[in-house]
Amino acid sequence: MASCVLAFDFGGTRARCALVGRDGSRLALEVRDRPAEADGRGWLERMIQAARELRAAHPEHAPLAIGVSFGGPVGTDGRIHSMHVSGWEHVDLAGMVSSEFSLPCAVDNDANLGAYGEYRYAPDVRGRDLAYFTVSTGVGGGFVWKGKPFRGAHGLAAEFGHIPVCPDDPSAPVCACGKRGCVESLASGRAIELAGREALKAAEREAAEGFNAGDVFAAAVRGEAWARPVRDRAVGALAWGVASILCVLDLPLVVLGGGVTQAGEALFEPLRARIEGYLPLVLRGRAEVRPAALGQFSPLLGAAALAWDRLDAEHG
Ligand SMILES: [Zn+2]
Repeated sequence: MASCVLAFDFGGTRARCALVGRDGSRLALEVRDRPAEADGRGWLERMIQAARELRAAHPEHAPLAIGVSFGGPVGTDGRIHSMHVSGWEHVDLAGMVSSEFSLPCAVDNDANLGAYGEYRYAPDVRGRDLAYFTVSTGVGGGFVWKGKPFRGAHGLAAEFGHIPVCPDDPSAPVCACGKRGCVESLASGRAIELAGREALKAAEREAAEGFNAGDVFAAAVRGEAWARPVRDRAVGALAWGVASILCVLDLPLVVLGGGVTQAGEALFEPLRARIEGYLPLVLRGRAEVRPAALGQFSPLLGAAALAWDRLDAEHG
């Protein structure tokens, strides 16, 4: 019987669970969308059921520990504090999952674990510390420092999305955190989509069905006049965030994941140029900036790495 760990990744609208080997290989995977009517507890119950089915279908793999990635703040006591889902407030998620399976369990924020998943399992990291930005509906962040996710005094380190870019500009959009002009309020998928819709309206054009941030990047590459200022503002805000992190930490690698990064070089090419422009001469050309090698699975595999760490700590 092969040993493995059980990993969960709770995102905003979708959750995954998987059995994962020590080398990061996914032995089996279940992906479930959150049912619209389910609160946090109801969703957890469904994912626990999915994990039970996964174990039953793969009796040859015996999980020894559990890691959970959670798409919201996780305190230093391991409690999750909030999410865009009711029923998740101040919940001991690790304790609940641990008692369901009678296995040790560790939990962390999805962006911290995105960073850690890339650090542990992306093929070309080679032991380099790194920062990870997730750019999707919102903007999250995490970084690995001296080989471990850095969590800060309150478990709230690396809120890259709330780095202020232009907090005193009354024309800047209000952020979900209550401030104006954060990286997230300018560069998230939602922000880019909204700004794109406004720019199209001003140009007296209709947004196509399913219009999103990717359409803005594609139109900017085609040279469409309405799209370029929208792209440039978003890319500028994201570059401001990345350059700020590099000025503080001088990391050798910055990885970006999340739906917006599916724009590929239409995003990364102008982003790298802006980052260079925002860095002092001495830091230019030092850090590699690239898409997440593990794609959407970085947080899930980070949760698996956390579970292996937990196991190793218990066994000395
Ligand atoms: Zn904010």
